[in-house]
This record gives sequence, C-alpha cells and structure tokens, in this order.
Amino acid sequence: MNVAKAAKELADIYGCDKEKAYLAALLHDITKEFTKEQHFELIEKGNVKLTEIERTTQSLWHSITAPVYARLNLGIEDEDILNAIRYHTTGRENMSTFEKIIFTADCISDDRSYPELDEVRSLAFTDLDAAVLAKLKYAIEFLVKKDRPICGDTVSAYNELVMKKNERTE
Ligand code: FE
Repeated sequence: MNVAKAAKELADIYGCDKEKAYLAALLHDITKEFTKEQHFELIEKGNVKLTEIERTTQSLWHSITAPVYARLNLGIEDEDILNAIRYHTTGRENMSTFEKIIFTADCISDDRSYPELDEVRSLAFTDLDAAVLAKLKYAIEFLVKKDRPICGDTVSAYNELVMKKNERTE
C-alpha cells in the first residue's frame, strides 16, 4: 500500500496514469512469498529464459514471476504494468517513465529505511532519472560489498543513466 501511494504521487508529478501506477505497485511483489518450487513452476509456465545470475539469485525471483502471475492468473495484459513489475528490482536499460516510477516508488515508500533514503526520496520528486541512478549506484555498492553478483540489467541501467548525466553536466 505504501509503494502504491508513492507510485500514485510520482505518476501525478511525471504525467503517467495514476490508477495504472497504483495497480502496478500493488502487484509488484505479488509472488514475493512464493516458495522456490512455486517460482520455478511459474518460470516454466511463462516460458521465461533465465540468465545464470537470475537462476541463482533468490531476491530476483519474485520480480521475474510476479508479471507471469499477473498475466496468467489475473489477466493483466498491459505491457507497461508487466514491464514495470518485471524490472522493479533490477532496473534495465531504456526504462520507460512508468517503469522508473514503479522502481522509484518501491525505493522511497514509507516503510523503507536505508542510509541514502532521504537523498533518493528528495530526488524522486524533482528528477526521476537522478533518483533511479542514485538507487542503482547504492544497490551496486551494496552488492559489491557483500560479494554478490550484479544482474546485467542493473549494470546496463546504471551505465545508461550515468552517461546521460555526465553528458548533461559536461
Ligand atoms: Fe520487490
């Protein structure tokens, strides 16, 4: 509910469909409590091809299976919603504004707490790309410190946004 509330606020600021953002945010973690077996059943049903990192990183499974669940079990066909759910954890290159809204709403919702939250939250309401970039940067730093692999989509998203930012400031 907190993410949905934040998504609605961001959709209002950045000119996206508020109700659609609310719905995508409500659904984004819908398979979060699934067992490994349930995740892999959906991955098979949805014909999803996994990278090695995706296959072995438990925290990514729900973002891969939630859109499959939304499509097959709830009849959601809207590609904006499905993609926003799919990439809410990792980001990806060329995210739509709608995808960035769900990604950021998840990072700044009222129940979150991490050291850089205030920075990401204030950026979220003024510069969506900067908010996404900041969160990607901190996520990458966190993963590196923990000796964990970084999904290729996250690296691509970071590279795209950091190069865009450097271009702007050069
Ligand atoms: Fe999630």
